[in-house]
Amino acid sequence: MPHESAAMKLLLTILAITVISTVNSVTASDDVRLTADDDYRWCKGNMHTHSLWSDGDDYPEMIAKWYLEHEYQFLVFTDHNTLLNKERWINSVDNKGGDTALRKLQAAGLPKSWIEMRDVKGDAPEIRLKTFDEVFELLAIPQNFLLIQGEEVSDRFGRLPVHMCVTNTSTLLTPLGGDSVAQVMQRNVDAALSHRARTGEAALIHLNHPNFNYAVTAEQLMQIVGEKFFEVYNGHPAVENVGDEQHASTDRMWDIINTWRLSRLDLPVMYGLATDDCHSYHTSTSIKDSQPGRGWVMVLSESLTPEALVQSLEAGQFYSSSGVTLKSVTKEDNEFTIVIDAEPDVTYTTDFIGTRHGFDDTSTPASDDPKDADKMTRKYSDEVGSVLKSVTGSTATYEFSGDEIYVRALVTSSRTHPNPGEPGEMEQAWVQPVQP
Ligand SMILES: [Zn+2]
Ligand SMILES: [Zn+2]
Repeated sequence: MPHESAAMKLLLTILAITVISTVNSVTASDDVRLTADDDYRWCKGNMHTHSLWSDGDDYPEMIAKWYLEHEYQFLVFTDHNTLLNKERWINSVDNKGGDTALRKLQAAGLPKSWIEMRDVKGDAPEIRLKTFDEVFELLAIPQNFLLIQGEEVSDRFGRLPVHMCVTNTSTLLTPLGGDSVAQVMQRNVDAALSHRARTGEAALIHLNHPNFNYAVTAEQLMQIVGEKFFEVYNGHPAVENVGDEQHASTDRMWDIINTWRLSRLDLPVMYGLATDDCHSYHTSTSIKDSQPGRGWVMVLSESLTPEALVQSLEAGQFYSSSGVTLKSVTKEDNEFTIVIDAEPDVTYTTDFIGTRHGFDDTSTPASDDPKDADKMTRKYSDEVGSVLKSVTGSTATYEFSGDEIYVRALVTSSRTHPNPGEPGEMEQAWVQPVQP
């Protein structure tokens, strides 16, 4: 729509926000019953993946094969500012994956004519990168394994990276920039929402790794209208999920964000995703590399289609995991119950975390230097996101007293993550916030 007027743009944005809020009207205050049955099943997926189309070190078909063989049900390709949709030839040796990636591709038992190479005078042959449609055709299995085209809109404010993944888009969304970190996020969210309103394509946008270069604070993210998701866990070793003395962890940010959105800002709950953000596919277990298999979402979905998955995600019908599997999450009347699919010789601790109405809402800057004050998430009282109850065992129940703004559950296993993004990680599951 090249000639749309400013008024039309505004109307489309309002329309998009209305559409999104309608989809999300299954709010946390409704009863929740997340359990597989004849109609709904759990689908395991990774929503943040890089390939040779940007700075990943493997071919997209090999990455899809990895996730298929590791029993995922869906995978979203999210290369930086690119879709896998054009004719593209690269040097077959001088690339991020090099000889190793090429030899593995050649040995993968793919159809005979699959690999296309062409000679280049005075250099190694070039190889054509397969498009999303070609990889989909080769590896997607109806209702069993789904590939989704996405993109990591890789924007920045000054030197700070502001990255947002879009799941399910056939149109490239270009980074729009802005005059502040918050405005960069808001403009990219608005663009995704108006794209969605124009095309009807169920595109979902989420904020990636807020603590990468400590770019995004809780106060900035909480105010973004139309943003419903951020990465509470990202498996890349450089993203500082746990923060440090001055910087809040992503878990802490999540509580601050939802406390303010639900009690002060009149904005809907924000959900927490776990993703791989994988780039490295050839090294063995190594904390230095961003490898696949570290964090994922389990979506309770009626069907394995992008539309059904996005609908379930937006209704909060999922949990995020770095190793803990759940059987069910229910909230009926005033009881919130988590049933864990327990493994032998592993113990589980479930922390019910939330904020009560009437909480102490004072805060102080995290830095004494006034010029850093709004660049770091502020320090809040322990009444924001406090542990309301802690339960050991494979079933954990919390009874609402009625004064909670929201309650979420964090399940931590006694087993360390076999391939962590940061040293000392335990396997966990993040259950989405519910309201009494
Ligand atoms: Zn990123
Ligand atoms: Zn990424």
